[in-house]
Amino acid sequence: MGWFISVVRAESSKLSKVDWENLQFGRVFTDHMFIADFYDGAWRDARIIPFGDLCLSPAFSAIHYGQSIFEGMKAQRGKDGDVLLFRPNLNAQRFNISAKRMALPTIPEEDFISSIKALVDIERNWIPNRENHSLYIRPFLFGNDSFIGVKPPENARFVIFCCPVGPYYSTPLKVMISEKYVRAVPGGAGFAKAAGNYGATLMPVKEIKEQGYDQYLWTDAFEHRYIQEVGTMNVFFVINDVIITPELDGTLLDGTTRDTLLHLFREQGTKVDERKVTVDEIYKAYNDGTLTECFGSGTAAVVSPINLLTSSHGDIILKSDREDSVSRHIKKKLTEYKLGIRQDHHNWLVRF
Ligand SMILES: *Cc1c(COP(=O)(O)O)cnc(C)c1O
Repeated sequence: MGWFISVVRAESSKLSKVDWENLQFGRVFTDHMFIADFYDGAWRDARIIPFGDLCLSPAFSAIHYGQSIFEGMKAQRGKDGDVLLFRPNLNAQRFNISAKRMALPTIPEEDFISSIKALVDIERNWIPNRENHSLYIRPFLFGNDSFIGVKPPENARFVIFCCPVGPYYSTPLKVMISEKYVRAVPGGAGFAKAAGNYGATLMPVKEIKEQGYDQYLWTDAFEHRYIQEVGTMNVFFVINDVIITPELDGTLLDGTTRDTLLHLFREQGTKVDERKVTVDEIYKAYNDGTLTECFGSGTAAVVSPINLLTSSHGDIILKSDREDSVSRHIKKKLTEYKLGIRQDHHNWLVRF
């Protein structure tokens, strides 16, 4: 079982030309990419070929109607030189959840993972051997019908490419609590990593960047009362030493980092509470001194402390980036699991 992947190797490698000191996120690509096409009811022509431009009809459906989904994951190099993937099964599962929501064909989990392994194996030398560096993997899938009818696509394309990336230096975030724009609504596609979810946030975020904020804290569409996510990350609050995060209600993305952090917190005996979280209770906890931290979680930055939250109710000023913060401690722990420094008793790592 599983699909056969043909390989055409690049004639030469661009690896020696990489400026490792000035790596910009997502701008440097490895030598190869993976492509498979869906037509006549099946996935076909799985192939690894030299990285290059795609040739598509101007009528290709995803560009008109947005049936396009993606994933984001990282390969790292273990101490022994092995390639390490972290919980890729979660990405495979979520890819199919996203695909179904966009009426795109799904991909068997084992084919999704074997394609990533095949590509990353060929690009092994591109996995940086430097601290805090990794190979970012971007699988995506889009409708590829070459006519402009609005309907579930009969043709689709699955592509994977990789980018070596450096450390994600981020200063603590300044966040605006949304009282106007929304990211996702019940019944919508907030739980999917669908392209349009991101495109529609760029204009609102551009507005607040001009005022010195980094991201929006997205709230529910009806009352702007319930908290969803921060930017493209899941969000956590620490109140009275309890970790509080919004429950998965269909409007937020089921983050692999979120899931892993919740696991690690529970395992170390820290109390966690997944439930509806209101803006009011965050202000209340801030005013009575019980809110001590806020942070976002996602594959790219892992854990990002948030030091300022603003809305018409005023400013919440935190020191979430303290040396002894909960977020710093859990980030370190998670990073050690990802690098295979801690014993993998959860079976989270895929090595090859
Ligand atoms: C990708 C993403 C996340 C984080 O998911 P991870 O699997 O942890 O990387 C959170 N929210 C949104 C909207 C995302 O797109």
